[in-house]
Amino acid sequence: MIGEKSKQLFDEAKKYLVGGVNSPVRYFKPYPFFVEKAKDCFLYDVDGNRYIDYCLAYGPMVLGHANELVIKEVEEQLYKGFAYGCPTEKEIILAKEVVNRVPCAEMVRFVNSGTEATLSAIRLARGYTNKKKIIKFDGAYHGAHDYVLVKSGSGALTHGIPNSAGIPEEVTKNTILVPFNDEDKVKKAVEENKEDLAAIIVEPVMGNVGCILPKDGFLQFLREITEENDILLIFDEVITGFRLARGGAQEYYNVVPDLATLGKILGGGFPIGALVGKKEIMEHLSPLGNVYQAGTFNGNPISITAGIATLKQLDDNFYKKTEKSAEILANTLRELVDKYNIKAKVYQIASMFQIYFNNKEVINYEIAKQSDINKFIEYFYNLLKRNIFIPPSQFECCFVSIKHNDEILNQTINIFEEVFKELK
Ligand SMILES: *Cc1c(COP(=O)(O)O)cnc(C)c1O
Repeated sequence: MIGEKSKQLFDEAKKYLVGGVNSPVRYFKPYPFFVEKAKDCFLYDVDGNRYIDYCLAYGPMVLGHANELVIKEVEEQLYKGFAYGCPTEKEIILAKEVVNRVPCAEMVRFVNSGTEATLSAIRLARGYTNKKKIIKFDGAYHGAHDYVLVKSGSGALTHGIPNSAGIPEEVTKNTILVPFNDEDKVKKAVEENKEDLAAIIVEPVMGNVGCILPKDGFLQFLREITEENDILLIFDEVITGFRLARGGAQEYYNVVPDLATLGKILGGGFPIGALVGKKEIMEHLSPLGNVYQAGTFNGNPISITAGIATLKQLDDNFYKKTEKSAEILANTLRELVDKYNIKAKVYQIASMFQIYFNNKEVINYEIAKQSDINKFIEYFYNLLKRNIFIPPSQFECCFVSIKHNDEILNQTINIFEEVFKELK
């Protein structure tokens, strides 16, 4: 269990860091463990506990922690300097990798986080179309900025503030909310607002209210309705990018948006984000166009180097193996749900999965919210005390890395069995 040193550090942290953490999802009761180091699929805390990690920094660490090639290439780069405020060849190399993989990507702008990427994508969509409104799905999380923090997922939902204080309604009145997977509601919203609609922004698989899959044809429907009404379609692929397939969800579902946002895996664990899309639209960004976007650390050589070293390792074997591993775990959970007669649903795609303690099929935020949160918390602590770490929220998603090998999966399966036996 979480030890004395973590407790001491948390008491100290609380004096200087708001709530003792720098991002709200990291807090759980009574206090989180403090990490000393991480390697492959393990986190090691300051009390000497080792956890099998299915959180993986909320997504980026698909190669496992402290990947050797990333270390080697970043180390070499470190000696050459870490920030220039000038362009580098490596930015071209990574941009080309992105363009070669991601179907909608003809041009790239590197930024520092997924939040900045969606903020910039929405601004670009508004600048390009000269329209104000956007459609966002209930419970979708597109980062922590004002345009999109309405009925938001992730930590905002976990901590009960899906609509943040401090955001003027003038800002969010242009954000129209629609339930995911509901074609009729989307049609109605488009019909009512089409003169003013700049874009629809969507997480192709909702990874910030658990793991909600799009119904067959739903993304295709979004593509068609946006095209017919001169609205841009933005895929927020900060989680799904480089995960569902080499080219992300747009490759997997064969639906090509106008713009997409990337992050997480793209930096291999270093801070990064990217806004990508069709050339004609992207060229409206500064310095070519009149939509301003800038950043001191945009394209910084360390993150770019880590990104190049990471993408290099995402070969066919990576996709096959991580999908297989996640499938094995999800199937195990389904079997246990049946065996112990638990009201729960399990969803999985590629390397991501989640269990909802819910007897309905979870197809949107409203249904996700009806899950038995207390049961989830019990499940979380039962795993934690057996040294398995998953995100401490029903409204996050679990991830597997290439380093979760058969031995680790078998250990996990045995622990799942023990945990389900104990669930009340
Ligand atoms: C994590 C996430 C973001 C925000 O990215 P940050 O790097 O945390 O700013 C945006 N959209 C989605 C879908 C995400 O999962």
